[in-house]
Amino acid sequence: MTSEAPLYRNHVLLLSQNFTIKDNQDELQLHAHKYDFDFRFFCEVKDFVKAVEADTGNSLFVIDLDALHNMQSDMEDKRKTLMLGELLQRLPANHSYVYLQSARQGSRFLLQQRLVDSNCLAYAEKPIPNDVLVDKLFNLFIQKKRGDLIRLMVLGEVPGLDEDALLRRRLELLRHTDAQTLHLRVKDVQPEMVLITEAEFERNEAIVRILKKNVEADPVREIMLLQQRLDANLTRRALAGGFDAIMQATEPVLLAGQLINRADKIRVNKDLIGKDRATGLLNKVGLQKKAQELVRQAAREEVPLSLGVVDIDKFKTINDTWGHHFGDIVIKRLSLALAQHVEEGDLLSRFGGEEFVVVFWNTTLEEGQRRLDAMRSSFCATAFEVAPGDVRHFSFSGGMAAFPEYKSENELFLRADAMLYEAKENGRNQVCIRPV
Ligand code: GH3
Ligand code: MG
Ligand code: MG
Repeated sequence: MTSEAPLYRNHVLLLSQNFTIKDNQDELQLHAHKYDFDFRFFCEVKDFVKAVEADTGNSLFVIDLDALHNMQSDMEDKRKTLMLGELLQRLPANHSYVYLQSARQGSRFLLQQRLVDSNCLAYAEKPIPNDVLVDKLFNLFIQKKRGDLIRLMVLGEVPGLDEDALLRRRLELLRHTDAQTLHLRVKDVQPEMVLITEAEFERNEAIVRILKKNVEADPVREIMLLQQRLDANLTRRALAGGFDAIMQATEPVLLAGQLINRADKIRVNKDLIGKDRATGLLNKVGLQKKAQELVRQAAREEVPLSLGVVDIDKFKTINDTWGHHFGDIVIKRLSLALAQHVEEGDLLSRFGGEEFVVVFWNTTLEEGQRRLDAMRSSFCATAFEVAPGDVRHFSFSGGMAAFPEYKSENELFLRADAMLYEAKENGRNQVCIRPV
């Protein structure tokens, strides 16, 4: 298959000589592709080390410790089996590793301790089914990457928090001073975390209930009380009132540390809920939430916005002719072609199987059509070599609608979907914005 961009965003470098893993390479790889990563297999420590040192992206490095049994030390005596200590020592120290160990190895506490103290990102116990291993590795990718900004709204006086330090850890601090309008600001900004001081809670006990009982409130949002001193009675009332967590007011750096850890957790959960694993794009859930926010913002700032729905043409035939796996690769290529054309402020989502949604910020219907058409040309130009010398091209159809003509994310979607139907009816491989 010919292409410029690498098909999978992430890589796992795996050092292994274990035959159960090697025999399953294809299966492991297929699972990995559903999660937007690729395996590179290594048998020799020196090749593995070289690849680790040369790695520039955010790959994961996995070491199957059973490999030790079959490996030779190439230090002095060629015949000697490689010892754990030597292996660990040879791994570049500026990276961290995932260790796969057997249950027997895991039961030895000292060995376990040695591993977790040796640049260990995580360890897993074998036997572990391929799909489970891939799923766990995927979670590590999510935790490792820089990630989306998490917003923390603070009500009340919380002195000493270093806003720049928080921002460097992808946590944005937003202050609000008026308890009476907090629920409106929260509705508007949709912060993932809200921190309310004890003093504000004492003055307005209903505040947390008002935030929580709104049916539109994000159930994932964390509402926290910042408690000044231990007071079981206050804690009890706060928990009964609906606070998710109670934070003790301590030194600002310690409070910041706690907030950052919580934000990291929330980010992981949001990614798991709101993103498609195969492409890393927003899924339906993630898109709806972000698109609603964007439409609100467009209304506030009085700018246009256009939403397009994309569906691959005759995709069933592609699947039937070259197999489901090939179909998946076509989907993946489309996601890359679309991603090349989105700009800061736009949204891109894999809405379902071979359907995608784009939202163009500050773009009228006509401009949106032009931009989606550019995406269409780019996908049409993508060459797929289905057999040696047999190159095929595929197409998609699209429909568009724009704000302010259509007022909500839902109305925009329904209209764009209806226009997609028009495009299909009119012969496919085109973008429609009006009935034809
Ligand atoms: P049309 O031009 O009218 O869109 O024709 P079509 O064959 O593309 O029809 P439709 O959009 O209804 O077909 C979607 C097919 O996509 C049905 C389903 O089997 C397949 N599909 C859905 N999700 C996936 C996926 O993740 N991978 C693969 N390989 N196929 C998928
Ligand atoms: Mg479809
Ligand atoms: Mg289709």
